[in-house]
Amino acid sequence: MRRDPTPVQTLADLIRGRQPCVVLTGAGVSTESGIPDFRSPTGVWARFDPQEYATIDAFRGNPAKVWEFYAPRVSMLIGAEPNAAHHAIAELQRRGLVEAVVTQNIDLLHERAGSGEVVEVHGSIRSFTCLQCGAGYELSYVLRQLHAARDEPPRCASCAAVVKPDVVFFGELLPERALERAFTLARGAGLLLVVGSTLEVWPVADLPGETLRHGGSLAIVNLGPTACDRQAELRIEGSAGEILPAVVEAL
Ligand SMILES: [Zn+2]
Repeated sequence: MRRDPTPVQTLADLIRGRQPCVVLTGAGVSTESGIPDFRSPTGVWARFDPQEYATIDAFRGNPAKVWEFYAPRVSMLIGAEPNAAHHAIAELQRRGLVEAVVTQNIDLLHERAGSGEVVEVHGSIRSFTCLQCGAGYELSYVLRQLHAARDEPPRCASCAAVVKPDVVFFGELLPERALERAFTLARGAGLLLVVGSTLEVWPVADLPGETLRHGGSLAIVNLGPTACDRQAELRIEGSAGEILPAVVEAL
């Protein structure tokens, strides 16, 4: 008697059969690393008003206040470790089965898990910029400043203005090159594998359509529904940290 393949086996077969595969990740891939998401009832925006802490106008108006939110957030992010999902995606990249990762996350966990190309469409905490004079700073500079004066926001070494994380704030344009690369990858993908994103926020909301219009397929691993469930060839309800290592095993 023939048994139907499990969803995990079906996903493994899709990854192998629909090359190139591009992985698109959202907050859900990092929640198992202890990083809260933004939009869920227990998420960051349930406790902090994004109008006060995450808009470019808020930063320009009162950068020190925005840093009261960002300083503990940066410490939390650098204290977090990549989880089984990040490691499984990096392994798929090492095996040549995933071309690149496009992520909404700013936490650097894909890179720390050893992923190859990672396209960060919302920026990251890797670098910081002085909006006054344009000077750029690395994370290590900001960490030293935060460590030296806990209640002080990190400042530019040349003009003393408060520096801003190179994370996309509300009201800011998205990084053009990353955006262009993300759409190019989506267009060329035989399979777009969405992990831990509800696909509600632009630009990632438009990437599945870009893949589908150009003849590629869509697979989704997420806890809870997404905006593109009906267009997906396969949808697995579950945690990324359990599903993805099982997919690596099944390949
Ligand atoms: Zn400056």
